[in-house]
Amino acid sequence: MKDEELILKVKDLKKYFPVKQGVFRKVVGQVKAVDGVSFSLKEGETLGLVGESGCGKSTTGETLMKLIEPTAGTIEYKNEEGNWRDLTKIDEEEFYSYKKDIQMIFQDPMSSLNPRMSVRDIIVEPLEIHGIGTKESRTETAKKLLDQVGLSEFFLNRYPHEFSGGQRQRIGIARALTLEPRIIVCDEPVSALDVSVQAQILNILEELQDRMGLTYIFIAHNLSVVEHISDRIMVMYLGKIVEIASADDLYDKPLHPYTEILLKSIPEGDPKSKKKRGKIDGIVPDPSDPPSGCNLHPRCPYAQEICSEEEPPLELINEEKEQFSACHFAKELNLAGYNDLVEQKA
Ligand code: SF4
Repeated sequence: MKDEELILKVKDLKKYFPVKQGVFRKVVGQVKAVDGVSFSLKEGETLGLVGESGCGKSTTGETLMKLIEPTAGTIEYKNEEGNWRDLTKIDEEEFYSYKKDIQMIFQDPMSSLNPRMSVRDIIVEPLEIHGIGTKESRTETAKKLLDQVGLSEFFLNRYPHEFSGGQRQRIGIARALTLEPRIIVCDEPVSALDVSVQAQILNILEELQDRMGLTYIFIAHNLSVVEHISDRIMVMYLGKIVEIASADDLYDKPLHPYTEILLKSIPEGDPKSKKKRGKIDGIVPDPSDPPSGCNLHPRCPYAQEICSEEEPPLELINEEKEQFSACHFAKELNLAGYNDLVEQKA
């Protein structure tokens, strides 16, 4: 990937949470929620980030937004003037000027929208905080943004509880757009919505991306949702990235057994239909006491002796396709893609 195409470079990002016990809250261990994550984000692309609950996806997103401080690592961002800045090295005051460039859409619009604020106030609050515009111009901005997410300006003086889940998420998207960001971290934005509404929200996000040249990091626990919207997908397991590939390659020819497990959990039929999700066998291990070697080995159908002894690094396996995998046997295994799995079941 060429450096000039990039907007964000994340290197060896870590976020550890202390585990405390006893009356004196003594630190007895650490939860490695994000454990050495590295990736680059191309300007204008959608990078899917997928994995089961507890894999560190949301913590990664929150760390990029500086909602939580990383334990280690760098987050380099290229501003509109083309200058790179490591966001982990700047103080709150300086970050304030970058904050408008990177925004977030949350999973649960009901809890992320202040119930005591009108739709207008929710949308214009970021402008007020940054001292942008007049009362009148902010109201005009709110009307324009509501229109862009397919809601009437008639709703300006209503409150969040008066809306459906899908409408609330549209309001959440409008608020995220208020400061004209360049990157939006979408943290499971459709997981809490009815299947019929999910497609509408995904379509709005795609339209906005085309119109405004936005770059998305799209977090989901379901491969069928991210495949629909992503250019590339990163698969995360227990705080680490285990595969990175284009959405098509990941779907057709995965190079990591965990990706195959996720593909198996997609319901049969049209993967974009988003019908009821399949079940994934086994559970994610306790991140404060992860398995030795490759984290996946207790659940992996292809595990061999080395897997419990040595941790496989994330390596470029297919140079032409820029497909990375963290598996000792990525080059030897012939893993099933989505279509192969459908044929096997037929
Ligand atoms: Fe499975 Fe071993 Fe590959 Fe880990 S390294 S994914 S346990 S085969």
